[in-house]
Amino acid sequence: MQFRSSALSVALCIAIAAPAVMAKDGTYTATKLGRNGDVTVQVAIENDRIKDVKVQSWSETHPIADLAGTQVPADIVKFQTTNVDVVSGATLSSMAITAAVRDCIKAAGLDPSAFSKKAPKPDMAPGLVKETGDVVVIGAGGAGVSAAVAAAQAGKNVIVIEKAHFIGGNTSVAGGGYNAADPALESKHEMTAGQKKIVEDLIADKVRSPLHQQIIDKLKTQWDAYKKSGKTGLFDSPELHALQTWQGGDYIADLNLVYKLCKMAPETQKLLADMGLKWDDYTTQYVGALWPRSHKASNYNAGVGFIDTYLSVIEREKLPVKFILQTEATDLIVENGAVVGVKGHGRDGKTYEIRANNGVVIATGGFAGNVEMRMKYDTVWGGKLGPNVPTSNISGIDGKGILMAEKIGAATIDMGLIQLLPTCDSKTGSTSTKMASGTCIYVNKDGKRFVNELGRRDVLAKAALAQPDGMFFVISCESTNFVKDGRNMYGIRVKDLLDRKQVYSGETLEELAKNAGINPANLVKTVEAWQQFCKDLKGDPFGRFTCDAEAQLPKGPWYATPMSPAAHHTMGGLKINADTQVLDKAGTPIPGLYAAGEVTGGIHGGNRLGANAIPDVLNYGRLAGQMAANFTAK
Ligand code: ADP
Repeated sequence: MQFRSSALSVALCIAIAAPAVMAKDGTYTATKLGRNGDVTVQVAIENDRIKDVKVQSWSETHPIADLAGTQVPADIVKFQTTNVDVVSGATLSSMAITAAVRDCIKAAGLDPSAFSKKAPKPDMAPGLVKETGDVVVIGAGGAGVSAAVAAAQAGKNVIVIEKAHFIGGNTSVAGGGYNAADPALESKHEMTAGQKKIVEDLIADKVRSPLHQQIIDKLKTQWDAYKKSGKTGLFDSPELHALQTWQGGDYIADLNLVYKLCKMAPETQKLLADMGLKWDDYTTQYVGALWPRSHKASNYNAGVGFIDTYLSVIEREKLPVKFILQTEATDLIVENGAVVGVKGHGRDGKTYEIRANNGVVIATGGFAGNVEMRMKYDTVWGGKLGPNVPTSNISGIDGKGILMAEKIGAATIDMGLIQLLPTCDSKTGSTSTKMASGTCIYVNKDGKRFVNELGRRDVLAKAALAQPDGMFFVISCESTNFVKDGRNMYGIRVKDLLDRKQVYSGETLEELAKNAGINPANLVKTVEAWQQFCKDLKGDPFGRFTCDAEAQLPKGPWYATPMSPAAHHTMGGLKINADTQVLDKAGTPIPGLYAAGEVTGGIHGGNRLGANAIPDVLNYGRLAGQMAANFTAK
């Protein structure tokens, strides 16, 4: 730290009577706890004023906390106060900065109360802003950004209206798994007898529709060819993906939508690679994915990689996409029976009227974070999805986009089907605290396993809720932890996770058990039994038939991540056809209105498979963008 006293600062103190103490000019640092961990802030004090504030290090979530990291320091300097507006959705990150700055002010010898007057509110000048684009997209999550890029690549000017202060929505904090049948890559896994039986059972399944028959027939042909080939690596195809998705959602979904999704998934996987996203050179099985066809980016942490890839394309190709942030869409504009734009209001106090020469895409996400809506619609969890159930969703995604479309006659489907993700942080519902893959074993406080960890998400969530305190631990070790540069796979510092007891560790299993509050003798027995299973792949009491490298637990140090189910995904939403047109209650497309992503229903049925949401969002987003680009009102 450097100190430099200044005669001027003394004069200033006297002139304004506060601060009363002579400050030492220099640079100060302080650390406070943010949402994910330590936030270290550097403050330059000169002449009794805050000259500069910088966030030196943190592991707050990109992109949600990005604005807090720039706007809060800038406001503190501009208004010479720590009593500045917090950034909504990034309150803890904002408050960590202001608190650290207060500490620095004190350390400099100044009185923090002299820097606590309320900062002025931003100018709110009411008025009407009118804009026209070719395609208008509502919501800048995965579906919205994918739609915007597709429409712009089709030669259209695109305006995206987004309620939040950042681009990315829930997609940016999603686990980031992307299911797509990729037989070449998946063949790195040896196919087990259990997996063969899954394929054969699907081929022998009761036929429920002509399309079902058609997909089964195709799968049978592929499977016969595979068996004849003598290959031993894992088999896969879009047809197998589709049948698993449909069955895994209890045959409730529209099979046509399911099949289309599974056929499009490999295409978009390739497109993303062309855009600069680097895929891992192996596949895994995300929680509830039911098959090791989950792909993950190697050059990004989790879901934000998809968003950042699209944004880089917009920049590189100079695509005409304009984002209007902090502006909430409230009403669709309908003229002569067609949707021609959207009205909304901005945080700047202005009313917005944004018109489309072509189509409008609604991509406002689901409603798992809206307690009122999930209580109203839930038909799965028996009225138990009240405020005590945490959510993995970020704030502000509230399902109101569905209601907005309903107001102009749109139909909804499957609104009662809500998914709990079993593997969320027990306290916050966050999906980002896990150290290892979800295929590692889960144990309860008694040190015992309780479920086949590779099962469906609804099965896992129900089993988890039945454990003591409705929680469990994912057990992992150094070789299964995806740690890079001291951070877990979501970019959170492991030290912060340990300090905040969001993860426990121990050199031995007994030490881990003591630290985490797990029965030690049982934990040792459970891990030993698992190690044995991974050697001979026989006799797992919960019916597992694989133990991939990422689930093997060879040796300590050991880790346990405490987890509980949280409201995660809403399978219901706007009813669309396979061209992403929003349908009215009579099943007729509403001209000009397209929808994609979690705002839609009918694609996942009663249970969405893990790592099927991102392909849904990105593929149907792309299609919706193209469809909207081609629409012209009569
Ligand atoms: P999906 O995965 O379907 O793309 P996300 O949750 O990732 O859904 O993104 C939905 C986006 O829509 C979020 O960024 C959210 O803030 C935005 N959004 C939700 N409602 C509105 C609205 N009424 N007006 C503008 N943006 C909205």
